[in-house]
Amino acid sequence: MKKYWQLLLGTALFALTLGWGSAPVVAPAKAKATMKMVTYGQLTNKNPHRLAAVREAARQAILQTTKSKSKRVPAVYQVKLPTHMTKKAGLAEKGLQMPLLKNSFKLSHVTVPYSALTGKIANRYLPKANRTQKINANKMVALTFDDGPDKTLTPRLLKTLKKAHVHATFFEVGQSVKRYPQIARAVLAGGNELANHSWNHPNFGSIGTKKTAQQVLRTNQAIYQATKTLPQYVRPPYGSITAAEGRKLQQPIIRWSVDSRDWAYLNSKKDIKEVMKDTRGGDIILMHDVHKQSVAAVPTIIKRLKAKGYKLVTVSELLNNQALPGLQYFGAHDSRVVGK
Ligand SMILES: [Zn+2]
Repeated sequence: MKKYWQLLLGTALFALTLGWGSAPVVAPAKAKATMKMVTYGQLTNKNPHRLAAVREAARQAILQTTKSKSKRVPAVYQVKLPTHMTKKAGLAEKGLQMPLLKNSFKLSHVTVPYSALTGKIANRYLPKANRTQKINANKMVALTFDDGPDKTLTPRLLKTLKKAHVHATFFEVGQSVKRYPQIARAVLAGGNELANHSWNHPNFGSIGTKKTAQQVLRTNQAIYQATKTLPQYVRPPYGSITAAEGRKLQQPIIRWSVDSRDWAYLNSKKDIKEVMKDTRGGDIILMHDVHKQSVAAVPTIIKRLKAKGYKLVTVSELLNNQALPGLQYFGAHDSRVVGK
């Protein structure tokens, strides 16, 4: 049916171009678009982690569609979103149209842009521009910086990254994002990635599931308030999280494979040595942009990693946009189900 209309429309346009017919040519009334419906099982290849990623993308779309203020962030986590593989969504022109049950945002459906679904739903349902491409993660490493934003050090680091044409991922603490929203915005404006590192850096493993969920939600809210986007990832402080907490979080958990131990050294030379000793292709490197020695070490680290042939990328680039909730990632080649 779709092909027939395309053909008809194509012919009509062709006729218009050629100027066929003497009477003004009126384009045929646009056929009522019959949106193709597909099940979430088809979209996700029946992968519940992928479906969780679709739900998280839907939350972002609901907030943006309704131009909601940050105080509505907790409410978006109350909206009932599909958990059954047999339910259906529509492949609309601009995105995946998901029907919604009754909700406080008064939306009958939400359209999630295809650009937010790269790596989350099967390529065959995505426009060409949004499909996952093959990458060689062995030629890439991701620099990540925790505990910011810092008033002076984070802007200094952003300058370094810009000068080197490199993007990194920043796991920021909610209470500091609230204090320095303009720095959080600058992180994103520089093409970097911004993610959640709890509200005030407790040890999730010892505060329990409820408080952990609050820490993550409050930080998502602060990041949304500062940047109008929800962060994709969570990194638990000290890498500490219980299986039960991890299963409850609706975002992928990003760990690391190379610890610079910069917080212990507070010495640029030692930071550089530690990173260069351990880093291989596909690694996620952990540093902190709240220590001046760490920030001072970055230009040399970038130079040496580049000299080894590595491209420095964000976590999303390294994981090819395929990080999913319910899993934790220790590098491009090491993902584990939470709680196993
Ligand atoms: Zn930390």
